[in-house]
Amino acid sequence: MPTFSKILIANRGEIASRIIRTCHEMGVVTVAVFSDADRDAPFVRQADEAIYIGPSPSSESYLCQDAIISAAQRCHADAIHPGYGFLAENAIFARACADAGICFIGPAPKVIALLGSKQASKELVNKAGVPVVPSFALEHPNEIVYPVLLKASMGGGGKGMQIVREPSELASALASAKRVATSAFGDSTILIESYIESPRHIEIQILGDQHGTLVHLFERECSIQRRHQKIIEECPAPGLSPELRTSLAAAAITIARAVDYHNAGTVEFIVAPNGEFYFLEVNTRLQVEHAVTEEVTGIDLVREQIRIAEGKALSFGQDDIHQNGAALQCRLYAEDCDADFLPCSGTLLHVSMPTMPGLRVESGIESGSVVSIHYDPMLAKLITHAPTRSEALRLMKRSLATMAALGVTTNRDFLLSVLSHGSFETGQLDTGFLQQHSETLAILEEKEEFLGLALMAATYAKHDQQTCERSILPSMQASYRNNRWRDAQCTLRWNETTRTVHYHSAKDGSIEMRVDDGPAKALRCATSTGRTLVLEIDGHMQRFRVYWDRDRAFVQFQTYVYELHLAPRFPVLNDTKVEGRCIAPMPGRVVQVLVQDGDVVGAGDTLLVLEAMKMEHRIVANESGTVRSLTSQVGDQVDGGQELAMIDTSGV
Ligand code: ADP
Repeated sequence: MPTFSKILIANRGEIASRIIRTCHEMGVVTVAVFSDADRDAPFVRQADEAIYIGPSPSSESYLCQDAIISAAQRCHADAIHPGYGFLAENAIFARACADAGICFIGPAPKVIALLGSKQASKELVNKAGVPVVPSFALEHPNEIVYPVLLKASMGGGGKGMQIVREPSELASALASAKRVATSAFGDSTILIESYIESPRHIEIQILGDQHGTLVHLFERECSIQRRHQKIIEECPAPGLSPELRTSLAAAAITIARAVDYHNAGTVEFIVAPNGEFYFLEVNTRLQVEHAVTEEVTGIDLVREQIRIAEGKALSFGQDDIHQNGAALQCRLYAEDCDADFLPCSGTLLHVSMPTMPGLRVESGIESGSVVSIHYDPMLAKLITHAPTRSEALRLMKRSLATMAALGVTTNRDFLLSVLSHGSFETGQLDTGFLQQHSETLAILEEKEEFLGLALMAATYAKHDQQTCERSILPSMQASYRNNRWRDAQCTLRWNETTRTVHYHSAKDGSIEMRVDDGPAKALRCATSTGRTLVLEIDGHMQRFRVYWDRDRAFVQFQTYVYELHLAPRFPVLNDTKVEGRCIAPMPGRVVQVLVQDGDVVGAGDTLLVLEAMKMEHRIVANESGTVRSLTSQVGDQVDGGQELAMIDTSGV
């Protein structure tokens, strides 16, 4: 029976760090692999050794099987842990590892191949007597009962999934689904499935050794999703009846037995509002949300994966596994929740994660990390564990409120607004939650209310910085004026709003500030450490995080992050918004051009489809008019902010 001395982790970011940690706890030497973009990433430093595998695009590095196997041979690794994503569910890679004499930490290649196809696995599960979502054959369009969901058979991560409610929408949705499927998964097979309205996503974690012992580690609730991709997960599933829990777990074990499954895996189900459940798929790898199961059961899944791959027997049986307390996980993404969850890239200027009992942070970032367009925009995961769900939830709110990741737009504020929603608090969850509550989750009104405080904090920090940087009369405050009637001022822009903060030092050492014509407030700094500023404003001490980066300031106050821009002293001509301009929201590749120069379009019509960060983005006409200056062709690479077309409204 082998005992691994050295494991290569064929992944990056938070999951690479997480696997490295358990390996080190087991005494295993670790090897990371990295692309150009990741040379300075934390996981590379955390590993004992690291090997360069190629340029930043994942197709040239993390998906490059030969480069990874050569790296494992070069450093004499006994085994490869694939993490999730990339090559984790690639049967060809698993086989290539075995051929090279390296153990692939996961199930047998033939099981990965069988379960990797949603279509084949559904057939198998159906035979095993577990209910599956009804599907339809493309060859018999008249038999399709709408609404349906289109899925890439070899897909994952919710990518390319589309709901089709009417026969007339089918053709174009299929074309788009096929494009995404081919580019993301290298296979254009599309599954047409009944779309179940308002289901819950509940999945069962399983573990099996190579000696026939198979156990489940209960369920995870993963219903809070956007774009069919999870953002908040928990264990146990709130309000799940013991009977349903038992049935789901039994179904998962039946499926696993039918394929002689070993190693860690997850059997996913959707549960309809009437309590009926349907098999979705088996993920033959560690899940992003595995940590909530670990917290509740006390079992380290990575350790078990390694032990199983070494051929060892599970050291516990089903009766030894219990659910203790409740755990929640929030995924921190670089994305703009106000712009349809569009992924964001850039440099994280300031990252700070709290430490507190009951909180676990799995992070791939630090201050200075670059969020690249090449990879998934998930930055970190926060996991809380407490005796009850409401306590885990309270702890999660505090964790999110006290962490900071400034410089790139993240979903932190949005996560907080979901967690504070009454329906979330009472566990009324289904996969349509975010859409159904989109209006109550929109937080702008309250955010505007606090804008004044954010502006004052930014101005205070700027003033403080200027005072510290003064070489002439450093003891004199930067806001000192020999003409006491003329205040210093700082004009800042937030979204479309421009406000001016007027301020001067008062005799008692405080600073008097007012925003535009608002009331004057007396500010004092209680403490200022790093990026944290505690300001006493009219006798109320409150905590802000402020990061100034040249002309931009990021201010975090309570549940909100504000990105403020110092208004230029003189108007910048090319900064003015041009009506009718359709711009690329991020760098990407043009995959479809639907109109031609001179075409007349209506507001909201799709002009082009852009692929960026492994997703398709539709570029739509923002007004009705005639398309002008459309020069892009399919295959063109475009820059973020690049003008793709103009809509001429003069003839309308
Ligand atoms: P992926 O492998 O891309 O993650 P899944 O099949 O696991 O795809 O589905 C992802 C999510 O999409 C599910 O959690 C669920 O919210 C939704 N979904 C999948 N199939 C259906 C369906 N037939 N009806 C309704 N929602 C579905």
